[in-house]
Amino acid sequence: MVDKLNRFKELLAEVFDLNAAAALLGWDEQTYMPKGGAEERGEALATLSRLAHIRFTSDEVGALIDDLKPMVAQLDPDSDDARLVRVVERQYRKLVKVPERWVSEFARATSVAHHAWIEARGRKDFKHFQPYLEKNVELRREYAGFFAPYQHVYDPLLDDHEPGLTTAEVQAIFDQLRPQQVALIREIAARPPVDDSFLRKPYPEQPQWDFGVEVITRFGFDWNRGRQDKSAHPFTTSFGLGDVRITTRFEEHLGTAALLSTMHEGGHALYDQGYAPSLRRTPLASGASYAVHESQSRLWENLVGRSHEFWEHFYPRFQAIFSTYLGNVSLEQFYRAINKVEPSLIRVNADEATYNLHIMLRMELEIALMEGSLSVADLPEAWNERMRDYLGLTPPDVALGVLQDVHWSGGSIGYFPTYALGNLISVQLWEKAQADIPDLRDQIRQGRFDGLLGWLRENVHRHGAKFEPQELVERATGSKIDPQPYLRYLRNKFGQIYGLLA
Ligand code: ZN
Repeated sequence: MVDKLNRFKELLAEVFDLNAAAALLGWDEQTYMPKGGAEERGEALATLSRLAHIRFTSDEVGALIDDLKPMVAQLDPDSDDARLVRVVERQYRKLVKVPERWVSEFARATSVAHHAWIEARGRKDFKHFQPYLEKNVELRREYAGFFAPYQHVYDPLLDDHEPGLTTAEVQAIFDQLRPQQVALIREIAARPPVDDSFLRKPYPEQPQWDFGVEVITRFGFDWNRGRQDKSAHPFTTSFGLGDVRITTRFEEHLGTAALLSTMHEGGHALYDQGYAPSLRRTPLASGASYAVHESQSRLWENLVGRSHEFWEHFYPRFQAIFSTYLGNVSLEQFYRAINKVEPSLIRVNADEATYNLHIMLRMELEIALMEGSLSVADLPEAWNERMRDYLGLTPPDVALGVLQDVHWSGGSIGYFPTYALGNLISVQLWEKAQADIPDLRDQIRQGRFDGLLGWLRENVHRHGAKFEPQELVERATGSKIDPQPYLRYLRNKFGQIYGLLA
């Protein structure tokens, strides 16, 4: 058995290395690659994903799974080896259904579509992007077909991001959220608006960068195993436990954008740096799911980074650095400003109270595209209709509407719901961490985060992808993904800020 297990791990490590090489090319594509490199980079990425796919879906891996299954059945079911075989078997059974031809076609199509999207967004011209998106949707429908029969055509795509979750389960969760979030936003809209004009200034870039670096260093980001660069769209990627990279971006008209982005991506990176070393170079050295990954970024960005306690500690320094704009702004004014609720056009800048509505809109459109009840040509109008229904806004152009997100250009469908689920999980973890660490808020007031990071390492990070998202959340918090803690949190926080409790 030991020989077979070693051979199994050797093959998986090769796949891991190929994926790491592809991730490095992808990182470069979004940070430093000259525009002219797009086409050949697309080819290189297609080659690497094809090689990884061939290696992973080989008959040898299949035979080893069959041989190892009865053997690991004797082990503790929670042991690394038992979980490794189980997780790889699940991925293997899915991947062998996907032909190599599709994998390389998809890699090539999405790489070209990504650059078409950048062009189209710059020109505010949806028609330029339309044929590329049509191709991506067509490829995704073909992909779902490989997993027929299914309950819903969207299930196979959702399952790629959230193993084990179904479209029906997510719709049930969102059906609880939607009316309550809409009601809360209406109550807030009836209150006097918060003044955040002092944030909407051209804060100098270097001090913003330095402040973000200082904050995530305090959070526990390990700079010997990571770095930060600039990119148009902030993201986190890693090539192993020892090299986890984040990017950030500056916005001329929002002085806290880079800091919040750095805290967000820093939260992703703390997770990637926190997998147990025993999981190195295996498929378990990864987040449990996209939603669980997003719960980590949201937790550090919102529950910590937009909390009163956090700013009690950091505001005096932040105010001194940006005194040109903040010299006469009190901590209370600042706290209210960074938590301002206001329906807006752009998802990534949305506040905690409106964010999930942006997600529900996208998931509904994705489902319609996949079902074929909505054509790509009609997508911009369908987008604008829902923006009016949910947020009361009409995008003035497609760059501020349907073309704002990178996901569809990369063929990512089934990804968006993970953001909202991540919000829900982040508060479930936050409530449990507070119950387990009674002085957590005081620690944050003192600028100390080791207690929180230690709790996350123990309950979430070290497990990597050993458990499916529902199982991990239940182990960590005692219940499955549940919208109620998030709704409680929103009511409580924004009730105080907007005086709704009185
Ligand atoms: Zn994120």
